Amino acid sequence: MQKDVHLVLSGRWLISMDDARQEQQTEEGVSIAIAGDTIAEIGHSLACKYPDAQHLHCPHGLIMPGLINTHTHAAMSCFRGLADDLQLMTWLTQHIFPREAQLTKEMVYHATLLSICEMIKSGTTSFNDMYLFEQEVAAAAATAKMRAWVGEGFFDFPSPNYGQLEKGVEYVEELFAKYAHHDLVTITVTPHAVYTCNPALLQRAHALADQQKSLYHIHLAETKEEVKTCRERYGCTPVQHLENLGLLHERVVAAHCVILEEEDRDLLAKRRVKITHCPESNMKLASGIAPVQQLLNQGITVGLGTDGSASNNDVDMFGEMSTAAKLHKVRDLDPTAMSAATVLHAATLGGAKVLGRETQLGSLAVGKKADLIVLDMNQPHLTPLYNPVSHLVYAAKGSDVLHSVINGRLVMCNRQLTTLDETAVLAEMGKISKRVQQMAG
Ligand SMILES: [Zn+2]
Repeated sequence: MQKDVHLVLSGRWLISMDDARQEQQTEEGVSIAIAGDTIAEIGHSLACKYPDAQHLHCPHGLIMPGLINTHTHAAMSCFRGLADDLQLMTWLTQHIFPREAQLTKEMVYHATLLSICEMIKSGTTSFNDMYLFEQEVAAAAATAKMRAWVGEGFFDFPSPNYGQLEKGVEYVEELFAKYAHHDLVTITVTPHAVYTCNPALLQRAHALADQQKSLYHIHLAETKEEVKTCRERYGCTPVQHLENLGLLHERVVAAHCVILEEEDRDLLAKRRVKITHCPESNMKLASGIAPVQQLLNQGITVGLGTDGSASNNDVDMFGEMSTAAKLHKVRDLDPTAMSAATVLHAATLGGAKVLGRETQLGSLAVGKKADLIVLDMNQPHLTPLYNPVSHLVYAAKGSDVLHSVINGRLVMCNRQLTTLDETAVLAEMGKISKRVQQMAG
């Protein structure tokens, strides 16, 4: 074991999110040793023990698990700030869908790289993506050495990528084959929503997910309008609609779940559906506030997501944590709702559970994958420091992240990305944005 350690990170605090460690979960003056893609040891003064390893010491560093963004559309960074302050359906049908119809795979590749730059620089080490041209998203993640769950969107209308559905199924089957044994990329099945996918399509997608034992990632009960449409078409809510079709189970990752009835919540709990909560997108599109504290009280697993940069308008999970913690307090007029510890759990181990990978990700423990970040806490807005968990949710920013490790690899060192040329990624987006401006909205 000793000779295999290639990287040792040390700092002043460690928040492991590991139930087995006594902290809540903080330790002062710690090191973490990484061998290959795995955490080999957590202890003190490990740099002396592994003199041949690269050693990064941050005297005021806080080491914690990398954040897990459980719902995003990374390539939508190319539409950031293009159309704001609109109703969801107006925004989608008049601004986003017409432009998405003109997307190219090159645009998706470069826009995904842009989001990956932003995600790594703000502490995210895993993201769960749903979009178009997902071969490009998978390729971008593999290039950047970023952990990603990747799903090609299915809907009733022809896709700008694959055209008709059958071609889409073939496209996704190819993705499954190509990434079957990849160490960073996992393929998912992603019907867009119940208002854009007819029952046969939802079931066809389910059969594929079942066959591949993959996640089934879908937007669900996002707006009142969606629930109203579903009632008109099928006489029930979107959650009940999926239940009636036999599509609710523990590998379903449901994004949003804002408009829920009591029966819906009971069904989500009973079927052990996983929820991804995207508060900033829900706020910006005025969709509402998901009843997250109630869902958690019912034992439902909830992770956090940013949604795409066109409806947020960033992919910074530190901002999302702060928003989540405050939004539910104001909703319930209860300052004890969604504590900092609860929110931090949702952004780390909760997110890993949403993606079905909690045995490998989401907390720092020997034998788990080395996906972790180090924050520099020696800054005005983080001083004094009485409670690190409080600071992470209420005061820290993505830009406080100093180092990032994904699957044992140092992907950011002293805020410099090591796997991507950030200057080139930004320059490429400059060109793409000119094309986006020329597209008819
Ligand atoms: Zn979304």
